[in-house]
Formats: sequence, structure tokens, C-alpha cells
Amino acid sequence: MTEAIKTDVLIIGAGPCGLFAVFELGLLDMKAHVVDILDRPGGQCAELYPEKPIYDIPALPVVTGQGLTDALLEQIRPFEPAFTYGEMVETIERIGDPLFRAVTDRGTVFEAKVIVIAAGGGSFQPKRPPIPGIEAYEDKSVFYAVRKMEQFRDKRLLIVGGGDSALDWTINLAPLASHLTLLHRRDQFRAAPDSVNKMMALVGEGKIDFVLGQVSALEGADGQLSKAIVKRSDGSNFEIACDALLPFFGLTMKLGPVANWGLELKDGEVIPVGTETFETSIPGIFAIGDINWYPGKLKLILSGFHEAALMAQKAHGYVHPEKRLTFQYTTSSTSLQKKLGVK
Ligand SMILES: Cc1cc2nc3c(=O)[nH]c(=O)nc-3n(C[C@H](O)[C@H](O)[C@H](O)COP(=O)(O)OP(=O)(O)OC[C@H]3O[C@@H](n4cnc5c(N)ncnc54)[C@H](O)[C@@H]3O)c2cc1C
Repeated sequence: MTEAIKTDVLIIGAGPCGLFAVFELGLLDMKAHVVDILDRPGGQCAELYPEKPIYDIPALPVVTGQGLTDALLEQIRPFEPAFTYGEMVETIERIGDPLFRAVTDRGTVFEAKVIVIAAGGGSFQPKRPPIPGIEAYEDKSVFYAVRKMEQFRDKRLLIVGGGDSALDWTINLAPLASHLTLLHRRDQFRAAPDSVNKMMALVGEGKIDFVLGQVSALEGADGQLSKAIVKRSDGSNFEIACDALLPFFGLTMKLGPVANWGLELKDGEVIPVGTETFETSIPGIFAIGDINWYPGKLKLILSGFHEAALMAQKAHGYVHPEKRLTFQYTTSSTSLQKKLGVK
């Protein structure tokens, strides 16, 4: 097994509540490592509504989803949290008292005294296009995310979609690919106009092809794609030779592996917690933010911030059982100010 990354607290989910938990834990001298299946922080705020204004964050009359994410990253910087992006925590097991081992879908192993589940509505997972037999090619020549661009050097790429991901990866992978085709069912795009202009410029320069249609079938052997059959809107078909297919059809939220961690669940969807500590049915594992439930729960960012503060108080007992916890204000405590780097 790969050597474990050791940390005081493993936070699953880099949404606003997971990020703020780093702050509350940091004030109490606990180091955090944050893991998210997405390739960047912010959870729903960054993924679903980065440019939308939020009006109910205390003391911020208006802030966008991305603006809130950036401000939280700035606020937690003094605590130097570690981040692992693009990986989904799949398993958690108790290996000590208190010690947990968590393993991601990419085989990264973490050991932590405390686990904080800040997994929101669950993990964001790519929507699979309705192409018969596509599963046989997944992770071999069909990819829903680009983890390493080099993997696509000198390959014939077929990118499908009309949103930001499809257009961004078309622009970024065009210089590496031996040939790149962007396929979309219509000539209107949801992506940022600037990306559409850049993509069109590449088409104009003859560097990529843009075609209209939808993939209806795949051909290849042993998971290696050789061509895609594409259907035009008039029902006729044509073929595109390709080594890799990258469909970007958006993301859905699924509870995912959280359901298999042996935790008590409510309606198979959320994790019941007590409102004094936000600890789950397994001591040492906490749940904050949208993923938890208690009577009166409101799925609001500010609720998750409050939950993070109380969670940290209880987590301190697991991480530093020898230390007594004293309540302090950031305005007046020199020791807290030192931790924040302002003294
Ligand atoms: C359109 C829209 C508008 C909204 N407006 C407001 C508003 O005005 N005010 C407000 O307070 N709230 C608003 N919300 C709700 C708010 O966004 C959520 O309450 C908030 O994002 C919850 O934060 P979180 O950190 O709990 O989870 P999330 O933001 O959902 O983040 C959870 C993260 O965990 C990751 N994750 C899950 N499982 C795993 C796993 N196994 N391994 C690795 N990573 C995992 C996910 O990929 C995700 O990034 C809005 C929501 C939407 C959709």
C-alpha cells in the first residue's frame, strides 16, 4: 500500500463549509488536509454558481460564489492546509483509537485522528452520455476529466459538448493533439463567449475541426477506441477516427461512497448529527454543511460555518487529548493572533 499522508484532520469536501472548517481547526492547533473530487475548491459555489451573487453571508452584503471561495481561501491561508484535488474518498476504516485510514479512488492513503465529512450533496460526478457500451472504454480511451494533459499528446481527440469544460479543454489540448475534433449537437454554446471565440479562431486557422452531431456508437477493441459513429440532425451518419473521446456533459451530485462508510443515514441521503458537536454515529467522524441533518437544519452556508466551529471544539479532544481547551476571541487573544500571522 502507498505510504499514508498523515494529518490531524482529514476534511472530505472543499466546499465553503469544508474550507471554513480549516480555519476553526487551525485556531485550535489542528492541521487539516482537504480532499475533493473536483479539480478546485468551492464545492457548489464554484461549480454551480460562481458568478451568482449570494446575499446572506454575514457581514458580506453581496459576494459571488467564486468570490466567497476566494475569500475563504485567503482566510485559511495562515493555517497552510494541504489539498488533494481530483480524488474521491472511497473508503474509511478505523485503525486506532482515535485513528482512521481513508483511501481515494486514485489510491492515495490518508491517516487522520479525526474525519470531517463536508461532502455537501455528495460527490460531483460526470454525466455519462447515452452511448451503448461506453463503459468498456471508460478510463482507457474515454475520459470525463483531464488529469494529465500529456496523456493526450499526439493522439486523435474527439471532445464532445458545448459548455465551459468542453471548450476549455478544446483550447488547451489543441496544441498537443495530433488531431482534434470538437463535436456539439448545435452551433450555440453555453461556454463563455471568449472561449467560443478562441475555439472558432482555431477552426479558422485549420488547427481543429468543429462538427455538428451526436455520438451514437463507438468502435474499438479491448477498451481502445478506433472510431466514433456520429449522427447528424437529418438522421444520416458519419465516422470520426479517434484514439480518445472526452465527453463533457456536465456533472450530477451523488451521495456516492459516503453511503458505504457504516454511518447512520437519514432517508439514505444525509447524516444525522447532534447539534452540540456535529459528530456522527461513529466517534471521531463529524459531518458539517449540507451533508448533515438535525431537527431544524437549514442547508445554508452560514449554518455550516457555525457547525464547523462547534465541531472543532470536540475534535480538539481527539487530536490533543492532553491539552485543555480555553475559549478565546480572535480580537483579544495574542496566541490566536500569532497563529493568524497578524501579531
Ligand atoms: C444555485 C444555488 C444557489 C445557492 N444560493 C445560496 C445562497 O444564496 N445562500 C446560501 O447560504 N446557500 C446557497 N446555496 C446552497 C449552498 O451552496 C450550499 O449550502 C453549500 O454549498 C454547502 O456547502 P458544503 O461545503 O456543505 O458542500 P458543497 O458546496 O456541496 O461541497 C461539497 C464538496 O464535497 C465534495 N465531495 C463529496 N463527496 C466526496 C468524496 N467522497 N470525496 C471527495 N470529495 C467529495 C464535492 O465534490 C463538493 O465539492 C445555493 C445552492 C445552489 C445550487
